[in-house]
Amino acid sequence: MALAHNLGFPRIGGDRELKKAVEAYWKGDISQEQLQQTGRELRAKHWQLQKDAGIELLPVGDFAWYDQVLTHSLTFGAIPERFLKAGEKPTLDTLFAIARGVVGSSCCGGAHAQEMTKWFDTNYHYLVPELTSDQQFSLSWNELFEEVDEALALGHKVKPVIIGPLTWLWLAKEKEAGFNRLDLLERLLPVYGEILRKLNSQGVEWVQIDEPILGLDLPQEWKNAFERAYNLLQTEPGKKLIATYFSGLDDNLGLAANLPVDGLHIDLVRAPEQYPTILDRLPAYKVLSLGVVNGRNVWRADLEKILETLNHAHERLGDRLWVAPSCSLLHSPVDLAREDQLDDELKSWLAFAVQKCEEVAILAEAINNPDSAKVQAALEQSRKVQASRAASPRIHKPQVQQRIAAISSKDSQRNSPFAERIKLQRERLNLPLFPTTTIGSFPQTADIRAARQGLRQGKLSEAQYKAAMQEQIRLAVEVQEELGLDVLVHGEAERNDMVEYFAEQLDGYLFTRFGWVQSYGSRCVKPAVIYGDISRPEAMTVEWIAYAQQQTGKIMKGMLTGPVTMLMWSFPREDLTRKQQAQQLALAIRDEVVDLEAAGIKIIQIDEAAFREGLPLRRADWQEYLDWATESFRLTASGVRDETQIHTHMCYSEFNDVIAAIAAMDADVITIETSRSQMELLDAFESFHYPNDIGPGVYDIHSPRVPDSEEMANLLRKAAQRLPVEQLWANPDCGLKTRGWPETKAALEHMVTAAKQLREEY
Ligand code: GLN
Ligand code: ZN
Repeated sequence: MALAHNLGFPRIGGDRELKKAVEAYWKGDISQEQLQQTGRELRAKHWQLQKDAGIELLPVGDFAWYDQVLTHSLTFGAIPERFLKAGEKPTLDTLFAIARGVVGSSCCGGAHAQEMTKWFDTNYHYLVPELTSDQQFSLSWNELFEEVDEALALGHKVKPVIIGPLTWLWLAKEKEAGFNRLDLLERLLPVYGEILRKLNSQGVEWVQIDEPILGLDLPQEWKNAFERAYNLLQTEPGKKLIATYFSGLDDNLGLAANLPVDGLHIDLVRAPEQYPTILDRLPAYKVLSLGVVNGRNVWRADLEKILETLNHAHERLGDRLWVAPSCSLLHSPVDLAREDQLDDELKSWLAFAVQKCEEVAILAEAINNPDSAKVQAALEQSRKVQASRAASPRIHKPQVQQRIAAISSKDSQRNSPFAERIKLQRERLNLPLFPTTTIGSFPQTADIRAARQGLRQGKLSEAQYKAAMQEQIRLAVEVQEELGLDVLVHGEAERNDMVEYFAEQLDGYLFTRFGWVQSYGSRCVKPAVIYGDISRPEAMTVEWIAYAQQQTGKIMKGMLTGPVTMLMWSFPREDLTRKQQAQQLALAIRDEVVDLEAAGIKIIQIDEAAFREGLPLRRADWQEYLDWATESFRLTASGVRDETQIHTHMCYSEFNDVIAAIAAMDADVITIETSRSQMELLDAFESFHYPNDIGPGVYDIHSPRVPDSEEMANLLRKAAQRLPVEQLWANPDCGLKTRGWPETKAALEHMVTAAKQLREEY
C-alpha cells in the first residue's frame, strides 16, 4: 500500500482569513482570544479539507502566525535581547514584535524588526534568525504541541512538520564577527531531542524534518554536520522523515539517503532526474516519499505520466512508497472551487492546494486499487485535460511560434556598441553631468486608489478614469519640473502593479479571483498565470507616455517591465521552458519599446527587478539561466535606434557574482539600489570596469526619512571615487509609490541640490 501524505498546507485561508484576523488584531479591532479562535478554526478546516481530499497523514506545524522560521526561533528561545529580557517567556506579541519591529516611546527605546529574506527560490519571505556566539537554546514556545493535541482531539492522524537543525542554522545569521553559527549545532540539538520526545509522548508516530538545504551546494563542514546531527537525533524516539525540496540532491544524494532516519522525501517535479538513481542508494529499511505533484504551480498534474514512475517505484518499494506534493503547498493558492469567473475549460486545467491533495490521494489510490471506478474516472479526466491542453488554440499560437523560430542573434544586438551609441545619445539628450531622474512611480495616493476602485465598481467611466489619471500625470510633471529634475517620468499612477498591469494587456495570461499566496506575514500576492503563447494585441503604455511627453519640454522616460521579471512574478507554464516563455514575453515587450520610440520617446526603461531572483539554487545551473535571461532582455531592448537610450532598473541586488551578466544586458543606463550599502555595491562595477552608465540610488525609499543634500552628495562622491563621473546618474534607490508626496518632494529637492553640488566639484 502506498501512502498519501502532505508536506504542508497554505495557512492563510481561502478568503485570506488569517491575514484579515492578524491585521485586525494589530489594529486592536479584535482580541487575542478572537485571533486564537480564528487560528483554531482555520487549522481545523484545513485538516478536514486535506482529509476529505484523501490525505492519510496530515501535516501539523505548517500553521504560523507570521512565518514558520520565526515560530522555530521562538520555539528554540532564539529571541534577540531587544525583544525579550533574559528569563522572560515570549508571548504572541513578542512574535509580532520580532516580525514588525517596535516603535520607540518616551519611556522605552524601539527595536527594529528582524531582517526578512527570500525562502530559497520562492517568493515567500522568512525572518532571518539572529545568533550570537553565546547563544543558548531552550524550549520556549509550545504551539506545535498544542496544535498536535488539537488535531488528535479532532481524530486526525498527524505528522508534525519541523525545520531541521541544519536548515534552520543555515538560514540564520551571525550577529557578531568571529564565530561560525554551525558551532551552535551541539547546543541546539538537545532542544530537538526534547521536541521529538514530547511529540512521541503525545502519541505521534512520524515527524517530518525539513532539510531543503540538502538541495544546495553545501560546504564540506555542513555536510559533515548532517551526519553528526542525525547520528545524535537517531536515539530520540519516533520515526523521522527528512524532507528535501526545490532542487535535486545531486552530490548530497548519498548523504541524504544514508542519514540514520526512517524516510526521505525528494522533489521529483524540480529534479526528476533523481529517479531512479535514488532507488539504488536508498537503504532497504527506508520509506521513500516521492514529490510528484507540483507544489509551486497551479496546473493539474499529468496523472498517467506520474503513475509510470510511481508504479515502477512501487514494484521496488512496496509499502515503503509514499506519495506527496513536491514541497509544502504553502506556495500554491488554496482552493480552485472558489474561482467562479474562469470558464470551464481554463478551470479544468488548474489545480490549487485542495485539488493537489486530491491528486496526491488519487495517485496513491491508483497504486493500491488500480481498477477502482474512482481511479479510472480520474485517469480518464486527466487524459482529457492533457489532450485538450496539448491541442488548444487558446494555448498554441502559430504566429507567436513562428516569430520565436525566426529570432536570430542580430535581434538581440543593438546596431552599434555602447561606446558609439552613448555619443549619439549624449548629443541628442544634452544632459548635464550627474543627470537626475527617478525610477518610475510616484506616490500611489488615496485619490489614485479611489479612482481605480471607482472604475472597477463602475462608478467611474473609462473616460472619467482616464481623465483622472491624466490629471495625476500633469501633477507629476509639474512637480518634477519645479524640482528641476532632468529626465522625467509619468509616475505610473495608472498601474496597480508593475507585472499585473502588463499581464492584463497581454494575450496568454489569465487572472484568478482568489489565487492568493502568502508572500510574508500578512502580505499575500495573487500572481497572474501564463497559460498560453504570449502576444501583445495592442500598445500598452504609448498613449500614457506620449500624453506625459506632451506636457513637458523635458525628456520623458517611458517605463516598462522586463521579460524576466514578468516571468518570475507570474505562475509559469509547465509545457514550455522558462527560457521559451521569457522569449515570448521579450518579443511582446519589444514591440512596445519600438512603439514608444516611434511615438517620440527618447529614453525607455525596462525594469528587471527580479533578475537576480531567477538564479537557480545550484551554481552549476547559473550560467544557463544568466544566458537566457540576458538574452531575453537584449531581445526586448534591441529593436530601437542607437540614439534611443535604454535604461534598466534592479532592486536590492548583489552584483558581484553576476556582474558579467549585467554587463551583457548592455543597457545604456542601469539604476540600482545602493544607498543602504553606502555605495559598496558599486565595487563590483568598479572592478569589472563596467562600461555603461549607472545610476546608484542616493537615498533609501523604504523609509520616510528625508536625508539632507550633503548626505546624498557624499554618496555621489563615493560613487565618483569608484567610477568615471561621465558614467554616473543621480536617482533614488527605487520607485516612490509607497511614499507620501511631502517626503518625496523634499527628498528629490535634496537630490537635485546634491547633483548640482557635484557638478560644481567635477
Ligand atoms: N518602475 C517601478 C517603480 O518605480 C520599479 C519598481 C521596482 O523596481 N520594484 O515603481
Ligand atoms: Zn526597484
